[in-house]
Amino acid sequence: MNTEYDFLVIGGGPGGTPVAMALARAGRSVLLVENGPGLGGTCLFEGCIPSKILRESARRLREIREAARFGLCLPSLDSRIDWYAIQQRKRHILKQRSEAAIARAGALPKLELVFGHAAFRDARRALVTPGEGEPAEIGFGRAVIATGSAPTRPPIPGVDHHRVIDSETLLDIDHIPERLIVIGGGPIGVELGQIFHTFGSQVTLLEAAPRILGPVDAELAGRLEARMRDDGIELFTGCRVERIDNTGGGVFVSYQDADGQAWHRFSEQVLLVTGRHPRVEGLGLEHTGVRHGPHGIEVDEHLQTSEPGLYALGDVVGAPAFAHWAGAQALSLARHLLGRPAAFPRPRYNSAVIFSEPELGIAGLTESQAREAGIDYAVARYDFAGDARAQIAGRADGLLKILYEQGSHRVIGVHALVEGADDLIGEAALAIHAGVTLEALASSIHPHPTLTESFAQAARAALAG
Ligand SMILES: Cc1cc2nc3c(=O)[nH]c(=O)nc-3n(C[C@H](O)[C@H](O)[C@H](O)COP(=O)(O)OP(=O)(O)OC[C@H]3O[C@@H](n4cnc5c(N)ncnc54)[C@H](O)[C@@H]3O)c2cc1C
Repeated sequence: MNTEYDFLVIGGGPGGTPVAMALARAGRSVLLVENGPGLGGTCLFEGCIPSKILRESARRLREIREAARFGLCLPSLDSRIDWYAIQQRKRHILKQRSEAAIARAGALPKLELVFGHAAFRDARRALVTPGEGEPAEIGFGRAVIATGSAPTRPPIPGVDHHRVIDSETLLDIDHIPERLIVIGGGPIGVELGQIFHTFGSQVTLLEAAPRILGPVDAELAGRLEARMRDDGIELFTGCRVERIDNTGGGVFVSYQDADGQAWHRFSEQVLLVTGRHPRVEGLGLEHTGVRHGPHGIEVDEHLQTSEPGLYALGDVVGAPAFAHWAGAQALSLARHLLGRPAAFPRPRYNSAVIFSEPELGIAGLTESQAREAGIDYAVARYDFAGDARAQIAGRADGLLKILYEQGSHRVIGVHALVEGADDLIGEAALAIHAGVTLEALASSIHPHPTLTESFAQAARAALAG
């Protein structure tokens, strides 16, 4: 380690890694400090990637189970799950991705990567404690805080029982639990609840709000709730978890449903996914002028904190908490720090996928956000019940909603619940970003039979109506 750097970047996730690499590529000396098992952050080791690897196995299992619907008579439907092999495959992909990221970082002579912990001594100095070796105090010109977020534990009596686990522990679990109670109906709870249900766990999902997936389009969230119930997931919304009691072989979760009725459910494991909080503890922020609260480190429109020269991005500055959002912030911040023109990402152009079954794709504004912003909008709709591609795929229960400005007809939001929405929604984000109109959607030629036709169909129906 040197004693002085142009930049210190704390956290090697999807936010910290690209900003560090972009600065080093431009010739600035950068120290990137990461205290996890490799380079990739929550996304690689505990989040996006491992959850989607498990989901992929679950998806294929479901396809095998549904084979008869497609006229396929398999020799035996007694499919056995080799959980060890699934976990091995997961570990292999994570290792491969982390090693590739380390190799990319290693190819940049101006970037030094240290696996260890960093904490501020003041606004221009930090103590770096490597996993191996002696701690060293280093100086830097400017720093970027990209330390992410960590699971929150609500004050429910019994919540510290070892059978009450977070998403990271569930993703690494050594067997498929027979019963799983999921507390929290946000994206992580819904995704993992459905994955483990497909693997054979009996799943109960408890959500305090009146519906799952709070900020998501209410109609689509309602359809997804119905689908989950049809599939056999027990789902309670508007319910209050009161306590968790040890029974020896498992735990009893006591809760009240929306009508005030008391319930007690036994479970082998409880997945607690009620939210995440910014990871600021141990960072030494008290030695700087960085202000932070429950929603994260406060930053201005250039991601600068209240301490000049210290910047923050990604989950540690609060919602939206997505890997691609952190990555987009990182690229803009790097340009800004290099003195180049930079357009910082704006939430109204963000997109996201909830990897539920079917996927729920979101781009731009929801109806409630459009109302709050005072936008005069209308909605073009398309029900996938009549869609060729959806019928061929055997999943025609989805819905597409396109929000557009009255008058200009410019698309401002797209919401799709359909198998394949994950690959559909990126183009919707582009349409919103480019200010595409309903007329352009209606008149552009979409290949048949694909889900993309839904955009043209929805637009044509809205223009005709
Ligand atoms: C189960 C789950 C599923 C998810 N699925 C998706 C998905 O499908 N798509 C999506 O876009 N997002 C998903 N997310 C969210 C995504 O993982 C985060 O939004 C993203 O990782 C945030 O990136 P970040 O760089 O801000 O922080 P992180 O990825 O959390 O990286 C921060 C890094 O900083 C390190 N660090 C912290 N403190 C210090 C310190 N003092 N010194 C040194 N290093 C430190 C940590 O070890 C960590 O590696 C998921 C999250 C979870 C939990």
